[in-house]
Amino acid sequence: MSEHKGTQRTNTAAANDDADVAALRERVRGRTLLPGDDGFAARCAGFQTAYRHRPSVLVRAADPEDVVAAVAYAAARDLPVAVQATGHGLSVPTDGGLLIDTAGLSGVTVDAPARTARIGAGTRFAAVVEAAARHGLAPLNGSAPGAGAVGYVLGGGLGLLAREFGYAADRVGSIDIVTADARPRHVTARSEPELFWALRGAGANFGVVTGMDIDLVPVSRLYGGELVFDLARTPDLLADYLRWTETLPDELTSSVSLLDHPDLPLFPATVRGRFTAHVRIAYTGDGRTGERLVAPLRALGPRLSDTVAEMPYTECGAIYNDPPMPHAYQGDNILLRAFGPEQAAEVTRLAGAGTGLPCVVDVRHLGGALGRPAAVPNAVGHRAARYLLRVLTPLMGAEPDAAAGVRDKVLGALAAESVGGRFQNLVYGGCANGAPKAPAQDFWEPADHRRLSALKAEIDPANLFRFNRNIEPAGWNTPR
Ligand SMILES: Cc1cc2nc3c(=O)[nH]c(=O)nc-3n(C[C@H](O)[C@H](O)[C@H](O)COP(=O)(O)OP(=O)(O)OC[C@H]3O[C@@H](n4cnc5c(N)ncnc54)[C@H](O)[C@@H]3O)c2cc1C
Repeated sequence: MSEHKGTQRTNTAAANDDADVAALRERVRGRTLLPGDDGFAARCAGFQTAYRHRPSVLVRAADPEDVVAAVAYAAARDLPVAVQATGHGLSVPTDGGLLIDTAGLSGVTVDAPARTARIGAGTRFAAVVEAAARHGLAPLNGSAPGAGAVGYVLGGGLGLLAREFGYAADRVGSIDIVTADARPRHVTARSEPELFWALRGAGANFGVVTGMDIDLVPVSRLYGGELVFDLARTPDLLADYLRWTETLPDELTSSVSLLDHPDLPLFPATVRGRFTAHVRIAYTGDGRTGERLVAPLRALGPRLSDTVAEMPYTECGAIYNDPPMPHAYQGDNILLRAFGPEQAAEVTRLAGAGTGLPCVVDVRHLGGALGRPAAVPNAVGHRAARYLLRVLTPLMGAEPDAAAGVRDKVLGALAAESVGGRFQNLVYGGCANGAPKAPAQDFWEPADHRRLSALKAEIDPANLFRFNRNIEPAGWNTPR
């Protein structure tokens, strides 16, 4: 009983009747923690350090039955429920309510002949990549091996192999979820088609997922890595990159990030004080063809580094080298139908010298399988988008409002080309100053949002699951 003693403990005593909590503790095989209990603050913390959950009760689930008990407890008291696996994607922190920590529900079982994996709710992608690779297979993971696989899939999942295989949410066989009625459901395209459609793209709104079956793809190696350019020597790199993407097969997925590195000791000497462009590449075809495809980029000028080569898929985390340690960050994006050379010049100007922030402007090349509907349709929309432009600001002492200023200018420069939406997984930030003001409607196509809202009214009429990119139940009057 060491952390946050005092006022918070007193508030909690009011929110949780002692006898009720004792009954919950009795029923849960994992741990039930209140503010002030040992481990409570540590379990509320996650990868995102700019915001944190402040629930009045936390359940560390050890099995799906614990999730059922926790949801039943919350529903009976009208306590809203939040979920955290790793904290990479914290969007709306709880203030009060019940937090279900799914980190303990981890595990991967590969069915190699079926090319599928059964994953628990707390599983990180690093474990799925390792397990799949033993069978010459790969999941449709994103850039960071430490991110939670289930949260990523529920938000769409834009991965390293996305142009060839589509969104991760496009390749899911079944989902186990505990809904607001505290009922565990095994949801498939046959058992509950409407809910199955919704969960793949808007899942966090409909309950707590305890596990899912995802498809694996036959990829064991790549021609991939990163090319780093100094924009002082290749100032038109962004426009040249965009032109290059028009020539590519679907088997090549790539992105470019522009980073203005302030002259600070925390940056490596090779990039410190420089405005650099990082082109990230994952190509599943043979190395010789890969070299030919990448040659026009290499011809643009000298590179500060060039790691693009044959690699086992197990090393795919090295393509983006995302920081593995928790930190504070904000980010927003828009989905674009086009991205022309004048706009590239403007974005380069706005993101470059003078921002004074370690600001990352990231352009992901979409199209290919991302432009086609999933074999079993789902709630991931905006498929006409050809590029995703995002601005990410690590808040290393930077003022959130300053970060918002740069972000809004860069995204504003392309507003005319927006398909009218954002990709939810790549919007980062809670409710504090300077956070993205992305309305939830932006994450789905308007007709899909109406359909999701109608289903939400059926499955979660009290909006128990509202600490997320919230879809309000149709006709719901938000009690705020
Ligand atoms: C460094 C970094 C790199 C990333 N790269 C990519 C990328 O390449 N492509 C991409 O698409 N995304 C990417 N993301 C975004 C990431 O996929 C999302 O933030 C995702 O939500 C993270 O899930 P999590 O479980 O790790 O995070 P958490 O913060 O634990 O969960 C995020 C949210 O997901 C929901 N959720 C999680 N688990 C469950 C569950 N069991 N049931 C119901 N809802 C649940 C909840 O709403 C929760 O608030 C990246 C994020 C970071 C920080």
